[in-house]
Amino acid sequence: MRLQGKVALVTGGGRGIGAAIARRMASEGANVCVVSRTDSELQAQAAWIREHTAAAVAVAVGDVSNPQDVERTVAEAIAHFGHVDILVNCAGISVAHASVDLPFERWKQCLNVNLDGTFLYCQAVGRRMIERGQGGKIINITSLVAHAAIPERAAYAASKGGVKQLTQNLALEWAKYNIQVNSISPGFIMTEIVRDYIARGIHKPEKMVARIPAGRMGEVDDIAGPAVFLASPDSDYITGTTLLVDGGFLANGYV
Ligand code: NAD
Repeated sequence: MRLQGKVALVTGGGRGIGAAIARRMASEGANVCVVSRTDSELQAQAAWIREHTAAAVAVAVGDVSNPQDVERTVAEAIAHFGHVDILVNCAGISVAHASVDLPFERWKQCLNVNLDGTFLYCQAVGRRMIERGQGGKIINITSLVAHAAIPERAAYAASKGGVKQLTQNLALEWAKYNIQVNSISPGFIMTEIVRDYIARGIHKPEKMVARIPAGRMGEVDDIAGPAVFLASPDSDYITGTTLLVDGGFLANGYV
């Protein structure tokens, strides 16, 4: 029980990678507030946590790119649990479109959800962690595209590159408050986003796997373990870094 008695707030925690992180943190003893814009996702997630773990769970519906929703959902988590020890920013959307005619609205939406949403939660939760004076852990989910270009992902790459750099800045500013701020860059993880891209022919799984030294796509649990590590005291001397969890994809120069 590496997170016994801690309180975690997980955005995008209703499904996919965020759901796996919320479940694993609850299994490690953390009480969890799960945030998403979709209530049905949240109810299913809360039911799973209640059934499979001894953790307390709260849900909060909100849009991470809306500052009022961010303040309200953080206030709801604190009303429920008193404080937040661990913040995981996992809510995100992906845009695949050639840059030459990428509609500006889609660019803005991607930046709003992925980058603005992460900043807003870091600020709202970080401010309360600083006031409380007990430190904290912030884990931002970025992506491979923050490290290397993938065609037709300009908006997504800009948003996730921004999250990676934001993580470093906050780590620098908040180290003196014993708040560690790190990010995880997942490789290709089998979730709805990726299944949808495969169905639409945007991703070619056999080509992707051929490039991954581990020889397989990632699963959501491949990210949950590293997130627990970054939320636990085992990582107290780690801040401002990005943990690549990609099966070796970026290490592979041999294609
Ligand atoms: P997913 O679509 O399965 O889950 C995304 C979650 O975010 C959902 O719960 C959704 O409701 C929520 N969400 C989306 N927009 C929101 C908004 N405006 N406000 C509140 N909630 C919102 O996606 P996933 O594959 O599990 O991805 C999770 C995170 O991991 C994302 O940030 C994604 O960019 C990142 N990521 C995924 C992969 C991958 O291969 N799946 C790779 C690298 C990074």
